[in-house]
Amino acid sequence: MGASAHEIVMESRQEIVDKLIAQMEKGYASTRAAWNSMKTGRPYNSESEAVYNGINRFRLMFASLEHGYEDPRWMTYKQAKDAGYRIKAGAKSVLLEKWIYYKEVPSLDENGEQVIGADGQPQMKKLLYKKPIVNYFRVFNAEQIIGVPEYVKEQITEDQYSDYADRFEKSSKCPVCYENQDSAYYSAVEDKIHLPPKAAFKNNETRLGVLLHEMAHSTGHESRLNRPLLNAFGTPEYAKEELNAELTSLFLENDFNISIEPESEIIKDHANYVKSWLAVLKKEPDALFDSCKTAEKISNYLLENYRELERSKDVENVHMVESETVDSTRQGESFARREMLQEMRAEMGFGNMIL
Ligand SMILES: [Zn+2]
Repeated sequence: MGASAHEIVMESRQEIVDKLIAQMEKGYASTRAAWNSMKTGRPYNSESEAVYNGINRFRLMFASLEHGYEDPRWMTYKQAKDAGYRIKAGAKSVLLEKWIYYKEVPSLDENGEQVIGADGQPQMKKLLYKKPIVNYFRVFNAEQIIGVPEYVKEQITEDQYSDYADRFEKSSKCPVCYENQDSAYYSAVEDKIHLPPKAAFKNNETRLGVLLHEMAHSTGHESRLNRPLLNAFGTPEYAKEELNAELTSLFLENDFNISIEPESEIIKDHANYVKSWLAVLKKEPDALFDSCKTAEKISNYLLENYRELERSKDVENVHMVESETVDSTRQGESFARREMLQEMRAEMGFGNMIL
């Protein structure tokens, strides 16, 4: 008998962790530089329009990094075939996980009769499995497929980076203060984000990257997503929380199609926490995948606050929007698409089949 779906999924997880460890062993700067070389936005399925979350998102980002894909579109072999496209000879697919948490069964009344809903259709109910069932499927990148329409990448300007940074900062539920010192950190005791003066950042992209990392930590506060934050340096818990923050900023950068150059001296102890990540990943490979789920939750939380601010700004700016130029209409369109993707993400929710 061949390997079970569970074994295949777990084996492919181990493969990713091994590659990541090999990358990290070269040091933080090299790991970050590798991620920054990634030239693609948030991975999505161009045929179903579904966006990938958590572990699957990380798997596709990692594959893009490995193979240098600049196209964020993915699809299955069948989807490509149905659309009349052709997979290039020798193209290797990426394995994605499919977790099934429940099955649908007919809803019965006390006499054992099928319940009919108000719409005249038989009613169904969800039966949760004690242990979720894992399966997998495979997708190809659009660059591996012949016949796919060309992908037009959105260009981000320096002004937009500055805008994103300002808006994220404004949407933060945790106070952000710029001070005359040289490090960036979140203090759980004060519940406050400390940053060096704005002028100390190389540019707005870097400020945004550092800000997102610290905002990710701040969501651990008990009034927000409530995660253990007071972890002693060098412990596995400390390393895991750092991984949560790094993956969150990576996911959000990817959401907005931006890549940020790190300034390692600004976020405290980078080199050291890479060492603690390595220790954790070697001992507990699944920590990476747990962190992917946590980072998805954190980035959704931060995005929701960001969007709330955007919506309130939209109300303030109704008058301005009326007189917008052609250029900003285009921007509006791409924002609408992003909104739509986010909405789909929210609808699919956590614990959906696409993780
Ligand atoms: Zn950190």
